[in-house]
Amino acid sequence: MRARNHNGPGREDPPRKMPVHAPPGPVPTLAELADQHVTELRVWCGAWPQRCFHRGVVRLDLFPPGETIVQASRRLVCTKCGLIGGYAQPHWPS
Ligand SMILES: [Zn+2]
Repeated sequence: MRARNHNGPGREDPPRKMPVHAPPGPVPTLAELADQHVTELRVWCGAWPQRCFHRGVVRLDLFPPGETIVQASRRLVCTKCGLIGGYAQPHWPS
């Protein structure tokens, strides 16, 4: 048995669930974004190799409210090059 450097209080504290690297919080659903007055998504075409870079804004209510922004971004279809799947960010109201 070896001595431990025990410099805490004598009572047994439950282990803290505080990882050093905080994980990203739960991804909000589109409905939760709508609750925060987000009505639109800023979207980008995902076709980087083709250098499409088409950007646009789509209405939030075009997507099922239970989906996350990640799920919704996979449904995006580029109106310029036709690629399915892009990137989306909430268009926060200013
Ligand atoms: Zn495109």
